[in-house]
Amino acid sequence: MTSLNLPKGVAAEVTSLLKDLGVDAARLSGGTLAARTPITGETVAHVKEDAPDAARAAIDGAQTAFLAWRSIPAPQRGELVRLFGEELRAKKAELGHLVSLEAGKITSEGLGEVQEMIDICDFAVGLSRQLYGLTIATERADHRMMETWHPLGVTGIISAFNFPVAVWAWNAALALVCGNSTVWKPSEKTPLTALATVALFDKAVARYNANGGKAPAGLAALIIGGREIGELLVDHKNVPLVSATGSTAMGRAVGPRLAGRFARAILELGGNNAAIVCPSADLDLTLRGVAFAAMGTAGQRCTTLRRLFVHDSVYDTLVPRLKKAYGSVTIGNPMTTGTLVGPLIDKGAFTGMQKALEAAKAAGGTVTGGDRVGEAEAADAFYVRPALVEMPGQSGPVEHETFAPILYVIRYTDFEAVLALHNAVPQGLSSSIFTNDLREAETFLSVRGSDCGIANVNIGPSGAEIGGAFGGEKETGGGRESGSDSWKAYMRRATNTINYGKTLPLAQGVKFDV
Ligand code: NAD
Repeated sequence: MTSLNLPKGVAAEVTSLLKDLGVDAARLSGGTLAARTPITGETVAHVKEDAPDAARAAIDGAQTAFLAWRSIPAPQRGELVRLFGEELRAKKAELGHLVSLEAGKITSEGLGEVQEMIDICDFAVGLSRQLYGLTIATERADHRMMETWHPLGVTGIISAFNFPVAVWAWNAALALVCGNSTVWKPSEKTPLTALATVALFDKAVARYNANGGKAPAGLAALIIGGREIGELLVDHKNVPLVSATGSTAMGRAVGPRLAGRFARAILELGGNNAAIVCPSADLDLTLRGVAFAAMGTAGQRCTTLRRLFVHDSVYDTLVPRLKKAYGSVTIGNPMTTGTLVGPLIDKGAFTGMQKALEAAKAAGGTVTGGDRVGEAEAADAFYVRPALVEMPGQSGPVEHETFAPILYVIRYTDFEAVLALHNAVPQGLSSSIFTNDLREAETFLSVRGSDCGIANVNIGPSGAEIGGAFGGEKETGGGRESGSDSWKAYMRRATNTINYGKTLPLAQGVKFDV
């Protein structure tokens, strides 16, 4: 049995990183929230949580900040985001390392998460000069009609453990250039990276204000706590928009509460992402695409590949090669060079995975892998060999998202039938087809093809770029964030009509002479 190569003295390393990143040490001890590293399972800090009154005060502070920030010209708001991007560049290695320590990501993925934050800052800086409205043809003489985009208010951001900082940045960078303030409730499993991110943001604010900027206090607030603190944000009357990332169960609770007070929701929920491997697929490329999408981040991405449909004619070539890759992938300390699969976040994730594998067996599946690795070395950490499960059909656990590295593989023969199966799950986040047949590729991307928010050809479903709008359909929640025109969700649109003539023609030819 090969060693997991686990590091020693993680707590001391975390403390020194947090200090370097500017986090107030007073927040890290004597609190009720035990922050742990999934790498060894040890507790590395006792973070002070925000009591409900403190959380309410942060939201009130963000509302006051909004009233000042909304009047700052958008390109000047962009300058603050530009400075934040500089702070992230300067501390990319440290914050990326902290992401690895707190979320268990391999080094390149921890750094990649911070790179994504930098990229969205760059995007938002450009956007701060491009919050365009339209001029619209009007039916009335001597009139002009246009639309104007205005800041919306306090943007609530609820995030999940698996992208502990990038998801906040996708939302906050856009919200800030749009003229909003933000209040962030990070996952209770990843408070440390949140504290570090906000400390870097505060540095950017200090530089901005030292250069004559007018960023108000409380512009990007952080509230730490569990579900109850999240609920408080969801229910607060001064929060007109909540962007919530997490499980479908969370979205099911949050969505109706927001609808009940007519607040806006951006829901980014669970996925059950699939890929179809067609007869003409480049199998070398497919193998690499599938391996990363299914095993990367230890199966803990919302876009992780969970269902693989393989055409009968290539099944017996591709699947044995895939199984070999599953058997040989390096599992262990995510910060060691060469490791591709780090730990699961916690015991709950491990138990959920084992339950799904049992259910798959009961439904006729043949399981390869899925066993716990290195238990003797790390009793409180949960490393597993990714599981590949050959299934006779799409039933039982295949229809649900299990947030762990399980890939269900199903043989198919008919393209139209496999498209129908692909879409026959409740989730609709990301999808792929591997083919060199133009008709299959284009059909997959067409209205008759994938019903997901993301549909790819010859790359796996995971690893989206920030330039595109990110999100999915059905039980994935329908929200879009990050690139394209996602910014519109963070602003309110006003339609304006101006009469510069001396008569008053009414719309639709209505006569009303008094
Ligand atoms: P989770 O649903 O357990 O928690 C997510 C966040 O929601 C946490 O901050 C939690 O405290 C908060 N929360 C939970 N219930 C709440 C409630 N009733 N009111 C207010 N806040 C509440 O999710 P997780 O285990 O941290 O993350 C994994 C899940 O997130 C997976 O389902 C994954 O697919 C999904 N995810 C989706 C996306 C996406 O963009 N679609 C991205 C990342 C993760």
